[in-house]
Amino acid sequence: MSEMRLVVVGAAGRMGRALVRAVVEAKGATLVAAVERSESEALGKDAGELAGVGPLGVVITDDATAAFSGADGVLDFTAPQATIRFAKLAAEAGAAHIIGTTGWSDGEDAPLHVAASSIPLVKSGNMSLGVNLLAALVKKAAEALDEEFDIEVLEMHHKHKVDAPSGTALLLGEAAAEGRGIDLGERSVRSRDGITGARDAGDIGFATLRGGSVIGEHSVIFAGEGERIELTHRAEDRQLFANGAVKAALWAHRQPPGFYSMADVLGLND
Ligand code: NAP
Repeated sequence: MSEMRLVVVGAAGRMGRALVRAVVEAKGATLVAAVERSESEALGKDAGELAGVGPLGVVITDDATAAFSGADGVLDFTAPQATIRFAKLAAEAGAAHIIGTTGWSDGEDAPLHVAASSIPLVKSGNMSLGVNLLAALVKKAAEALDEEFDIEVLEMHHKHKVDAPSGTALLLGEAAAEGRGIDLGERSVRSRDGITGARDAGDIGFATLRGGSVIGEHSVIFAGEGERIELTHRAEDRQLFANGAVKAALWAHRQPPGFYSMADVLGLND
């Protein structure tokens, strides 16, 4: 099979540059275009040079429609409104859409499900093997432990991150809720301040730390009477998310249209 032709959108961002590096290093994939928004200072620059891998002859453009035509897949770690537009364009171009973008509000991703009726679409708040495995363990632990164990999700990220809780924290919260057989939307406590009253049994709490250059740390704490279980993942290099996204793209290339998660890519749902 010929190489999968990939486009990176948000190519000048932290993850965008990591994605360019991941495509260059991947077997079976090639970078055919790189996109940024019209106001970006990166327009006209070589995507490889910006990513620190030397010139690739792929100049960063703001014309996503032209960039997507003839592509097999789009790697997208940008922002929700941009991702919604890219999903429509990817569906029109018949390209798989791999989405790492986080910060979605409830129901905001509905247009992605429309796109997924005509293309393979993979969306995950975390593209690493470790976190997806952690989610499977969290689900199992939540199944095994009853409401006597309070579940809290703690995360820390670098000071530039704009959304909270992180997509990964929510992914882990969802896994815990699924294990408990409850609806996360109804039982999550996203912040605490002032006289909050005692904790309700069965709630899933979230706590957020921001600072420095932390790539991403997540702990799910099961706190019982007299004992505590903590399951933790620490990301040490954002390249692992980018490599996961390329792996997802190569997998999606062989799939029928549909809305997939990283757990599908990694076979954790089998
Ligand atoms: P970042 O450095 O701010 O990069 C985002 C990039 O997208 C920027 O270059 C931004 O351009 C660009 N962008 C925004 N709107 C655009 C548009 N309409 N057209 C083209 N480009 C556009 O942020 P980051 O740290 O790379 O993170 C990006 C996203 O990935 C966040 O949602 C983050 O939480 C998520 N993330 C996910 C995972 C995962 O495994 N799923 C891992 C890490 C990060 P401007 O600078 O001009 O706005």
